[in-house]
Amino acid sequence: MHVSITPEQEKLRAAARELAQGPVRERAAEVDRTEEYPWDNVDRLKDAGFLGMTIPKEYGGKGGSWMDAVLLIEEMSKECSVTGRIAVETNMGAISAVMAYGSDEQKKFAADMVLSGDKPAICITEPGAGSSAGEMTTRADMKGNRYIVNGTKHWITGGGVSRLHLIFAKVFDEAGEELGIGGFLAVRDETPGLKIVKREPTMGLRGIPEAEIAFEDMDLPPSALVIPPRGLKKGFADLMNAYNSQRVGAGTVALGIAEGAYQLALDWSEERHQFGRPINEFQGLQWKLADMSIKLAASQALIYKAAASGENGFPDMLMAAQAKIFTSENAIQVVNDALQFFGARGYSRNNPLERMARDVRMFTIGGGTAEVLRNVVAGSILGKKLPQTRDGYIARAAE
Ligand code: FAD
Repeated sequence: MHVSITPEQEKLRAAARELAQGPVRERAAEVDRTEEYPWDNVDRLKDAGFLGMTIPKEYGGKGGSWMDAVLLIEEMSKECSVTGRIAVETNMGAISAVMAYGSDEQKKFAADMVLSGDKPAICITEPGAGSSAGEMTTRADMKGNRYIVNGTKHWITGGGVSRLHLIFAKVFDEAGEELGIGGFLAVRDETPGLKIVKREPTMGLRGIPEAEIAFEDMDLPPSALVIPPRGLKKGFADLMNAYNSQRVGAGTVALGIAEGAYQLALDWSEERHQFGRPINEFQGLQWKLADMSIKLAASQALIYKAAASGENGFPDMLMAAQAKIFTSENAIQVVNDALQFFGARGYSRNNPLERMARDVRMFTIGGGTAEVLRNVVAGSILGKKLPQTRDGYIARAAE
């Protein structure tokens, strides 16, 4: 596959870099310290036309590609991971699921919200159902012409600041028969029964809340249900396709953080003198820099390839999983190595690397853990379904 950056994309990258290296860089430490959502950066992204870039033109977006989004996210994340994540979630994930599978009315509604500054939340994970998302217990019961939703989700990014929510629930008909897993649209402060329960105190990425959300007899009209092409029974897999774009986006945040950290280490290695010479004259550190640059180049190639694989739909599932695993694991190592270059200074909260080391740790967990994504990769290269439940495994072995 040939991956290239067009002259327009070079321009987009340059504009994103200018914004990132200006006010976004200046705000990054404060966003982390105050743990406040950076609404000012949201406005900056909006003014620059960076929100909802991937939304089709007919709905007010730019009809941009995944690669456009990746270039934006990479530049933001070098300076501020939280702003990088806002760039992900206003261009990928929930909004791309609605744009792919929603009705015309749902697409217009969601596009308007994102283009005016809302970062939608995607609600899948529950206390009892993390990696095994299909075991979710949140349910939507059909009552007459309505859906009544009950359940609890946790670790929902943006819980408390996001307005639009895409909520996954098991759907039951009036006779109590399960029809499959559906995605429902609801709006915080407008949809009765949607409650933000509590904010999780997180290790990093502190400027964006992670929250527990409860649905208590949340009453929704039929128009709230996003129905994918294969209907409710098989539609969960379709909806999860949207997660392939989110995974590429999450991998790109990790890449951007690591690239930012590497640059700091490179500059410091020239500035810092010990034993009468710059520390980059020591071969031990030269080889470390070489290894870091190799990890970054390989990560970037995988991310760009995965993004380019999705020009006609969502990114390829295998490439997205490979890219996220490799990038997230290597980014942790690169940031850790970069911190080492600074000696004691790297351990200070006045040094951005302390924040970057906390921020980057997330990306082997959220959006599918590195272990679960290895199951995706293995299943894909073996061409087999790899059931993870005991029953499913025994049934498969008996085939
Ligand atoms: P568990 O599923 O309990 O896993 C525990 C450990 O067991 C992990 O190491 C896991 O890899 C391993 N494991 C589990 N099953 C297998 C298996 N079959 N094979 C091998 N290893 C296995 N969720 C949302 O719905 N929306 C969000 O916006 C969102 N944002 C998040 C933001 C952050 C910062 C974080 C940290 C999480 C977020 N999540 C979100 C939740 C995230 O998707 C889950 O944390 C993730 O899917 C793992 O679920 P879990 O935490 O319950 O871990």
